Amino acid sequence: MNISLILTKQCNLRCKYCFETHENVFMTEETALRAIDMAVGENDGFVGVSFFGGEPLLCKPLIYKCVEYSKRFADVKFSWNMTTNGLLFDEEFLDFARNENIDIAMSHDGLMTRTNRLYANGKDCLAALDEKLGLLLQYRPGAFIMATATPETVGIVNESMQYLFASGVRRLNLAIDARPSAGWDEDSMDILSNQLAMLGEYILKKYTNGEDVYFNPFEEKILAITKDRKCHICQLGMRKPYIDWDGNIYPCIQFGGMEKYRMGSVKEGINFARRDSIYQSSLKKPSFCEGCAMRKRCVNDCACLNYQQCGDTAEVSGQQCRYQQILITRADEMARKMLEADERHFSERYLSPSKQKQ
Ligand code: SF4
Ligand code: SF4
Repeated sequence: MNISLILTKQCNLRCKYCFETHENVFMTEETALRAIDMAVGENDGFVGVSFFGGEPLLCKPLIYKCVEYSKRFADVKFSWNMTTNGLLFDEEFLDFARNENIDIAMSHDGLMTRTNRLYANGKDCLAALDEKLGLLLQYRPGAFIMATATPETVGIVNESMQYLFASGVRRLNLAIDARPSAGWDEDSMDILSNQLAMLGEYILKKYTNGEDVYFNPFEEKILAITKDRKCHICQLGMRKPYIDWDGNIYPCIQFGGMEKYRMGSVKEGINFARRDSIYQSSLKKPSFCEGCAMRKRCVNDCACLNYQQCGDTAEVSGQQCRYQQILITRADEMARKMLEADERHFSERYLSPSKQKQ
């Protein structure tokens, strides 16, 4: 069983696109350990735990405690990961994370940070993030970095992704600010499309020079063809329930605090009938997706994104549809050129890709 622990809603940043409430609430040790007990009780020899927030590194002692507690379950294999802004990294924690094999995904927007990622006093955190990114890459050279673009910063997406790759990042993801208030329109989507075309050319150049870098939104679209697999499978609530800071369980982070989506607690356990009904209600897809040639490669099934944008887990916004089409088009352009440039390299990378390790 996999679980996500929302250790706190508080954060040391105030990113402009953040959907968090930044309340001063923190998961207690009792709740966290009960959540682990619950996951162990449901396990088939494997438990995956994700530390999430807010900013989970505000709760470092609790992370240490959870990992220590897991050692008593000798017959269960644990895997750990966390999503963090990284500002509270220090050598002690990164050493611990390396020793305990905690996969770390760090958020960093490259040069877009200057506009969107601010401290409470309004100052941007680019210099501090760069320093922490350097430290992370010393310990985990293959760490996954996650960026977010907004209409305000869309004109420097390419420059920002190149900035991160030049800083030593090898695996990079890009999301777009999904809040309905973000203000994406035709013009900003066109700019995004052009930016991603330029980024594709940059990655191609790296590839032809034998310096592979991985831009996940393109990679998953290409692998969906070469490895014949669906891009993203949401499985709302089924794969990884979210344990909120107070012990209530929800199908995903966006639904925290919503009674309609509560599916148990660490005291009661998971209400499986409720979980199944929430999952079933997310499966229907809009009629305009039927017959779409991009369907298999489209991430239109992210229930929390759909809910955020349309108020319905089974609806897909025009913005998300357009973003997916841009990604698939630009990924295909890049892949075609890679194949033409070096067929053997392409086959190694996309037909039998080795797992990228942290
Ligand atoms: S680092 Fe994450 S949780 Fe913190 S303000 Fe930024 S987006 Fe929100
Ligand atoms: S690209 Fe648009 S129409 Fe096609 S499957 Fe995705 S959301 Fe549906």
